[in-house]
Amino acid sequence: MITGVTGQDGSYLAELLLDKGYEVIGVVRRTSHDSYERIGHLLDRLHVVAADLLDQHSLTTVIRDAKPAEVYNLAAQSFVPTSWNQPVLTGEFTALGVTRLLEAIRLAHPQARFYQASSSEMFGKAVETPQRESTPFYPRSPYGVAKAYGHWITVNYRESYGMFAVSGILFNHESPRRGLEFVTRKVSDAVARIKLGKAGELRLGNLDSGRDWGFAGDYVEAMWRMLQQPEPKDYVVGTGTMHTVRDLCAAAFSHVGLDWQKYVKIDPRFVRPAEVDTLLADASRARRELGWAPKVSFEQLVKMMVDADVERLA
Ligand code: GDP
Repeated sequence: MITGVTGQDGSYLAELLLDKGYEVIGVVRRTSHDSYERIGHLLDRLHVVAADLLDQHSLTTVIRDAKPAEVYNLAAQSFVPTSWNQPVLTGEFTALGVTRLLEAIRLAHPQARFYQASSSEMFGKAVETPQRESTPFYPRSPYGVAKAYGHWITVNYRESYGMFAVSGILFNHESPRRGLEFVTRKVSDAVARIKLGKAGELRLGNLDSGRDWGFAGDYVEAMWRMLQQPEPKDYVVGTGTMHTVRDLCAAAFSHVGLDWQKYVKIDPRFVRPAEVDTLLADASRARRELGWAPKVSFEQLVKMMVDADVERLA
């Protein structure tokens, strides 16, 4: 069972599990718009059920009815800037939603193995570099604070009830399916538009911030591996290389033969009240114990995203 199945990670994880022969149940939340763009090609192979992280009863019902062997909680309010505008809603989905789902499992099917999508945003104003499982959290946004809650409640249900509940502390992971508001996709989309003559500039905030960006398709493999371990444990997942937003711009524009400095403009609207300056993963535990390593490099990722947007917009 996957919550957030309509999102980037949900769609890649559903593909991975279907390829492994799983029966996959995708949990979707009712909305008035079509949210199936990332999983349209999977709909005839997925069981889609309706439930909402804000509604305890709906969660308990879907867990009780399906009795899933594995539950992946990938649903959240996941965009950092929105978390300042809607801090309470972010906490309801991203923090308390985890408790509701854990309660549903505890009451209806405690044998289920549970994966929580924790985030490198919990490290925030990082107290050490690189960040590993033992690095203390210092979140810098209501989103990061909510994810820290989700992380610790997962640890707590493991320790309180003996549940197989784990957190994957995933660093930024991107793909052609990334939402257009995130910086990588915003850049790849703008590069494609500029190349095709549909736009003339790209407005961004802080170009100095550094991230450990990997490919989402690689990261869902790590999620699955965490649930196949003999013992439930938390893992950091990232590439161990960092690039700045400036590096991202340079790589994306140069891939289509353009000079980024002619098109990128700084716009204070995209600067955040508090910034996470740099994030860099030490994923050695995941490498050692899960046998996991990323396959797609930063350069390959940027090219993949730009090419996909050029093709889509052409
Ligand atoms: P995050 O790490 O989850 O916040 O992922 P984002 O892709 O939203 O942002 C990554 C970094 O890019 C942050 O440090 C942002 O401040 C920086 N950034 C600079 N300009 C922009 C922009 O226009 N949009 C977004 N989303 N991020 C930007």
